[in-house]
Amino acid sequence: MSGLYLHIPFCKQACSYCDFYFVTKQNEKEEFVEEFIKEIQSKKNTQFTQEKVRTIYFGGGTPSLLNAKQIGQVLEEIDEVFNLEAEEITLEMNPDDVSREYLSDLNSVGITRASMGVQTFDEKLLKFMNRAHTKAEALQCLEDLSISGLKSYTVDLIYGNPGQSLEMLENDIEILLGFNPPHISAYSLTIEPKTRLGKQFELGRLIPPEDDILAQHFDLVESKLKEVGINQYEISNFARPGFEAKHNSAYWNHENYLGVGPGAHSFWWKSGMKSAERWTNKADLKKYLSGNWENKSDVESLDLQNLVEERLMLALRTTKGLDSDTLKNRYEYELNSKQKDYLLQKAKEGKVDLSDGSLSLTKKGLKITDLIILDIITLG
Ligand code: SF4
Repeated sequence: MSGLYLHIPFCKQACSYCDFYFVTKQNEKEEFVEEFIKEIQSKKNTQFTQEKVRTIYFGGGTPSLLNAKQIGQVLEEIDEVFNLEAEEITLEMNPDDVSREYLSDLNSVGITRASMGVQTFDEKLLKFMNRAHTKAEALQCLEDLSISGLKSYTVDLIYGNPGQSLEMLENDIEILLGFNPPHISAYSLTIEPKTRLGKQFELGRLIPPEDDILAQHFDLVESKLKEVGINQYEISNFARPGFEAKHNSAYWNHENYLGVGPGAHSFWWKSGMKSAERWTNKADLKKYLSGNWENKSDVESLDLQNLVEERLMLALRTTKGLDSDTLKNRYEYELNSKQKDYLLQKAKEGKVDLSDGSLSLTKKGLKITDLIILDIITLG
């Protein structure tokens, strides 16, 4: 089983925190869709079409800058080329692009899940993030989503913004919960070097919140969502039972995924092989539009040791964790006595759960995930 990630590299404007690949000019969308379809066609009868495709994810960029007809064309082409048995087809969208009609059209062409970039309802913070939408647009799109025929949707929130008080965050959460969303992704603001925020930080004009404030923000998110039955299943992801994202879970489980479009990432681990490959399509729209979409960059070969370390990192960020059979059978890896002693100690401290032959972090442990993962790897 595998997933398809489709990168649509257009945005109306650059959000201040974002380091994804995108361009802000809009006049090449049609040409882009043509090339995109050619790239999909080029995968016909390759190793990528041998496996069933279980999930499709339109990310970016802002996929909702394409119209429903264009999305439909892409999906039709995928159906032609791949062995499609999709259980989930997600499209990222921004509130300022969405209308009831658009959602209904997306539903008709096969989209089953929306991922809505709300981030906050606070007008000042929206400006700080340089988002293209307003609070009113976010409220309207959430109302539209709650009555759309889509099977599910998720809403992105960003906490830990400079100047954001606990009250402001609580207000954001309460407004959002008023719409009864099935899934929420909540991220702590990260300051990436090549972004507008990164530059302000370098110049000393931006002071990020202290770690204890971030921890308070995180606790507030977790507890408010839990109160209404939206449970954490990964560090940044929360869902009502049965609404966990399938596509993202595939990344954490090391399932294969193929990226299409400039800047898209792929991961492929052929069955029975002792190594996997990860690569990125060159993030260059100009070259892409001139038919140069086969350009791979950052090709990385991962051996079993790299893979097991990565899997521990990904799995221990989820509440499900990882079982020892998977470690043994898929990664040929067994924990040594030092690692076992360390984990027993962490279990005594209430940070690790070792029941039923599996390894996962408790709520207390998830707060220091990176530290625990580093310790396990270092002791290996
Ligand atoms: S956060 Fe989304 S909308 Fe904003 S610049 Fe990045 S990709 Fe575009």
